[in-house]
Amino acid sequence: MPVGGGAPVSVQSMTTTKTADVDKTLAQVYALAAGGADIVRITCNDVGAAEGLAEIVPRSPVPIIADIHYQYRLALAALEAGVEGLRLNPGNIRKPHQIRAVAREAKDRGIPIRVGVNAGSLDRDLMARFGSATPEALVASAQKEIGYLAEEDFEDIKISVKHSHVPSMVDSYRLLADTLDYPLHLGVTEAGPPPGGLIKSVAGIATLLLEGIGDTIRFSLTADPVEEAKAGRQLLEYLDLRERTGLDLIACPSCGRAEVDVLAVAQEAQVKLEEADLPIQVAVMGCVVNGPGEAREADIGIAAGRGRGHLFIKGKVVRVVPEAEMVDALLDEARLLVEEGADARVAAADRGAAGLASRDRRRLLQIQGDANQAAARRAAVVKVASRDR
Ligand code: SF4
Repeated sequence: MPVGGGAPVSVQSMTTTKTADVDKTLAQVYALAAGGADIVRITCNDVGAAEGLAEIVPRSPVPIIADIHYQYRLALAALEAGVEGLRLNPGNIRKPHQIRAVAREAKDRGIPIRVGVNAGSLDRDLMARFGSATPEALVASAQKEIGYLAEEDFEDIKISVKHSHVPSMVDSYRLLADTLDYPLHLGVTEAGPPPGGLIKSVAGIATLLLEGIGDTIRFSLTADPVEEAKAGRQLLEYLDLRERTGLDLIACPSCGRAEVDVLAVAQEAQVKLEEADLPIQVAVMGCVVNGPGEAREADIGIAAGRGRGHLFIKGKVVRVVPEAEMVDALLDEARLLVEEGADARVAAADRGAAGLASRDRRRLLQIQGDANQAAARRAAVVKVASRDR
């Protein structure tokens, strides 16, 4: 799993089980990989954990990184266990000869090290010098550690400078990207439970990714870590940084025009489409007046109108079904779309569907009025354009 050097941005997560419990930890590693994690970090906090790693690493579907704090000997033990990466915390492994010993061993084995600076456990000398965990202090901590690694000609490095305060996290990584040229691991540390933790993580990580900063990411949520992996993967897909592998459900927020309970229909569609595991963008829209037009970019969608659902592909209505069958029809058509492609499904559209949909739409406009005032606006535009100067 390459990180940096133009490789796709990768998703990381971390197990929450006791590492010595090999079966439980492996089960969680598999769940994380299925949820979208490309790399999994596991704590190596005692000898039992290192022994567990020796059994876990060869059976893992993804690369395993050992998370090391305080005891450099556990980094050496993790390397012996065969891990594919180390994370060292410069705030609590501070003796240069210990860091150099780990670097020598990692270099011999071709294993990368992440210099994982964390605002909450910053080197106390740097805290004294900078007064608090400022972006400058976090970057100085990374530079100090890299200096020790450089003494052993160790260059296979990733860096993180995590902070729990989003603006400080963003500033720290911007400064880091301006100062050093290594692959960066992004994260908002101790972000907390969702939804707040998700919002903080997205705010920090997405801001940086959109600036071209960051090579691998981790959401640090107080939640099932599978949620972290899924959220990380989804973020990368939404930012077009990774190919879509799962469902992207878009839905209108509903309003007074809605002809169905949009929330209930969207939830039912989400459950059924996720079970079907289709890698497409699906729209659920509350009315046929605006729905198909506003969601024309979606691969497939459904809009509600006058007791019927209008199924559309790339904005073209292909079927009109009774309201009670909307979600099942959407699911059937989505499966066919993935199998046959959009052109084939548009060509196979029900005869009369487009006409029926257009009549439904006109009728609804008559009943509800045109909230967009399209006709009046066109008339006003024509009047202004043809006015004599
Ligand atoms: S699609 Fe229709 S129901 Fe949904 S928000 Fe737009 S106008 Fe309202």
